Amino acid sequence: MELNNIQGIGPKTKDNLNKLDIYNTNDLVNYYPYKYNIYNPININNAPDNTTITIIGIVESIPRIVFIKRNFNYLTFRILSNNNLINVTIFNRSFMKQHLTVGKSITLIGKYDVKTNKFTASNILLNALTNTFIEPIYHIKGNIKNKQLNTIILNVLNKEIINNTLPNNIKEKYKLLNEIDGLKEIHNPTNIDKLKQAEILFRYKELFDFMFKINYLKTKRTKDNNIIKKVDKDKINELINKLPFELTKDQLTSINDIIEDMTTKKRMNRILIGDVGSGKTIVSFIAIYANYLAGYQSALLSPTEILAIQHYNNIIKTLDIKVALLTSSTTKKERTMILNELKENRIDCIIGTHSIINEEVEFKNLGLVITDEQHRFGVNQRKNLQNKGNNVDVLYASATPIPRTYALTIYGDMDISEIKTKPSGRKDIITKLYKESDLKEALSIMLDEIKQGHQIYVISPLVEENEDNELYDVQQLKEKLNIAFNNKVSIDILHGKLKNKEKETIMNNFKEGITKILISTTVIEVGVDVKNATCIVIFNAERFGLSTLHQLRGRVGRNELTSYCLLISNYEKERLNVLTQSNDGFFISEKDFELRGSGDLFGTKQSGEMNFKVASIPRDIKILKQCNIDTKEFIETKEYKNYEYYKNIINQIEFID
Ligand code: ADP
Ligand code: MG
Repeated sequence: MELNNIQGIGPKTKDNLNKLDIYNTNDLVNYYPYKYNIYNPININNAPDNTTITIIGIVESIPRIVFIKRNFNYLTFRILSNNNLINVTIFNRSFMKQHLTVGKSITLIGKYDVKTNKFTASNILLNALTNTFIEPIYHIKGNIKNKQLNTIILNVLNKEIINNTLPNNIKEKYKLLNEIDGLKEIHNPTNIDKLKQAEILFRYKELFDFMFKINYLKTKRTKDNNIIKKVDKDKINELINKLPFELTKDQLTSINDIIEDMTTKKRMNRILIGDVGSGKTIVSFIAIYANYLAGYQSALLSPTEILAIQHYNNIIKTLDIKVALLTSSTTKKERTMILNELKENRIDCIIGTHSIINEEVEFKNLGLVITDEQHRFGVNQRKNLQNKGNNVDVLYASATPIPRTYALTIYGDMDISEIKTKPSGRKDIITKLYKESDLKEALSIMLDEIKQGHQIYVISPLVEENEDNELYDVQQLKEKLNIAFNNKVSIDILHGKLKNKEKETIMNNFKEGITKILISTTVIEVGVDVKNATCIVIFNAERFGLSTLHQLRGRVGRNELTSYCLLISNYEKERLNVLTQSNDGFFISEKDFELRGSGDLFGTKQSGEMNFKVASIPRDIKILKQCNIDTKEFIETKEYKNYEYYKNIINQIEFID
C-alpha cells in the first residue's frame, strides 16, 4: 500500500520515510531495527557505580528547570526508589516537566553516582516497567523520531495483511513463527526468546530465497536447450600424453568435469579453484582444445597484459590451433585484421584483456569463455563477453582461495572443480619476516640465490593514486640494491605504466635469465610463471592483504628447488606471521577473512552478493547449508509452483539471466 493512504503519515513524514528508502507499507514493515536497547529494571541498592542501569522510581518533588545557557538546560527533581531518596538530573528535557507530576511512577535510564547519591538520567519513560523492556532502535535520517517510526510501523502491522511466503511445511518442520508474528516481534519484542525466534525466521527466509534463486538457476542451466558438443577424447588423451609433465589427479578430474559439461545438455558454468601454482592454466588450455575439437571458438580473458602475453606464448607452444592476442596495445592494423578473422572463424581462440569485451569484437561461433583470475572482473564484464555467443560454456579460474564457508554464496550457481594438490615435488616456500633494520640477513639470502644461478622478484607496493610516486619507489629500490650488490647484479624494473612492448621485453629478459632481479609493483601478482625464480622479497609487506601476499609468494616455488619469500616490514608482525607459519592458501584466506572482513577478499564487485539484510555469513552458515538442501527439494518436488511469491521470483530471474 502507498504511504499516502495511511493514517498518521502526512506529507512531511512521507518525505522523511522516503529518505529511508521507504516507499510503501511493505518497505515500512521490513525496515528492521539495527539494534535493541534492553531495559531491565534493577534495585537501586544493588546499583553498580556510574554504569548505565534502569531503575523504577516515584517522583517526589516538582521538577525544577535550570537554565545554563541558550539551548542548554536541565531538569532536577527527587525520586523515591527502593526506599532511597535520590537526586535526578536530565539534560535538555524541560518539556518533560509537566508530565513528571509528584507521585508518578516512572522508569529512569542512566548512571548512578553512589557517593553523591546523584542519578544522571539519559532517558525517562513515563511509566514504570514491570518487566524487561526491549526497545527497537532504527537507523533514522531527517526529522523522524525513533519512537514515531516504531509507532507507524506497529500501526501498519496491526492493519496490513502480511503475506506469508515461506512454504508451510518448512515453517512446520522448523517450528518457525509466522511472518506476521515474526514482524511483530521484530518491531515490538515480547521477550528476548521470542525476538530470537523472529530473527531466526527472517534469516532463514532471506537465505531460503537466496538459495532458491541459485538452485533454480542451476537446474535451469541443466535443462537449457544447450548444444551438445562432440569432443574427440582420443585427441585429448594424445595431447595429455605429449605434455612434458604428468597431470595431477585433480587436474585430470577437472578436465573430465569440463568435458562432461561440454558434451552433455548442461551449459557449463564452472569455477576452477586452485591455489597459486596448482596448474590451472593447462586445464584451461585443454578446455580450449576440447572446444576447438567440437568446432567452436574460445576466448580467454585475462586481467593483465603481462599474463595475457604469457598465456599466448604458452598456448601456441601447447596447442596446434590458431590463436590471436588482443590487448589495448595491439596496433590498429593488427586489430582490424584480428576482428575480421574472428568474425570469419579463421581464429580458434582469442586471448586478451578487457579489449576482447569491446562490442566491436564479434565471433562466428563462440563456444567457450574462460575468465582467468575471475575475481578481477565485474559480473557485467564477464556477461558481456559471454553474450557474444549462444549458450556459451563458461569457465572461471581462480587462485583466490575462498574460505569454504563462503563458496556456497560466492559461487552459488557455479559448479566447482578444485585442484587441491600441487604438482609433485614442490616444496613449501620458506617464508621469513624481517624488519627494515635487519635487511642484511635478507640480502645475504638473496645473494646466495643469485650465486646459485637463481633469480629474484622484488616487490614494492603499488600506489595507485599516485603513479609517479610508484616509479620513484621502485627506482629508489633499484639504487639501494645496486649499492648492496656492488652493481654486479643485473636489475630491471617492471611497472604498470610501461608500454606493452617494453613490458614484454623486460619479462622476456627475466624469463631468459638475462635479468637476475626483477623489481616490480604488483603487476606480477597474478599468474606470471618463471621457474628459475626462487626468491621473492616484498617490501612494506604490511600494506598487502594476506591473500595478496600469498598470491605473490606463489610466483616462486614452481619447481623442485627450495624457494624463499622474504617479507620486509616494521609493522603488523602478528598478522604477517600467518604467512611464515603456513603455505596453505585456504588457511590463509580464512585468517585474512577473520582479520579484514570479506570486502577485501572478494573485491567490492562481488562482496555485494554477500550483503544480506538480516542474515550474515559465517554466523548463519548452518542455516545457509540447510537452505541449500531445502530449496533443492522445494524445486525438485515442484512445490514452488503453488506459491505466487516464488513464481514471481522466477519471473524476475528469467528476465535478468
Ligand atoms: P596457476 O594454477 O597458478 O595458474 P600455472 O598453471 O601457471 O599455475 O602452473 C604453474 C606451473 O606448474 C607452470 O609452470 C606449469 O607448466 C606447471 N605445471 C602445471 N601442471 C603441472 C604438473 N602436473 N606437473 C608439473 N608441472 C606442472
Ligand atoms: Mg593462472
